[in-house]
Amino acid sequence: MTKLTILEFPNPRLRKKAVPVQHVDDALRQFIDDMFETMYAAPGIGLAATQVDVHKRLLVTDVSSDHSEPHVLINPVILEKDGVAVTEEGCLSVPGYYEEVERAEHIRVSYLDRDGAEQTMEARGLLAVCIQHEIDHLDGKLFVDYLSEAKRSRIRKRLEKDRRLQPAPAAL
Ligand code: ZN
Repeated sequence: MTKLTILEFPNPRLRKKAVPVQHVDDALRQFIDDMFETMYAAPGIGLAATQVDVHKRLLVTDVSSDHSEPHVLINPVILEKDGVAVTEEGCLSVPGYYEEVERAEHIRVSYLDRDGAEQTMEARGLLAVCIQHEIDHLDGKLFVDYLSEAKRSRIRKRLEKDRRLQPAPAAL
């Protein structure tokens, strides 16, 4: 398996809208395994393909603390949502920042599984929030978009500054 590189805000490639997956094949399953490895290594509880610069509608999640609840959702579509959950969210593409975001507490979502079979699932609480966060990524949207413009630009400036302070890689 391969650990993939995660794009960070404000990289414009995070704004690309992902296209539906046409074929669920072995190459895609390999990519799904790489997504799980990347998410667990980060560590994170969700990862959208957009975040690793692959613009296909696919996401993985695991909100457990022991890697026991992996889900892969290909071409996810939210069919129903209700309730309100306010959660302090973070994002592997916005490292170090956590802010409260309001989303639906309960969702019903259709998707294809790793064998390409159509499935429907119900999710509540953190899993529901995580799936909504990752579907946003597939639409080019980030959790910082729910914050005020002032807050978002403060985060952007700090992340850009942090990156400038990192030592440049040796030129070969
Ligand atoms: Zn995210």
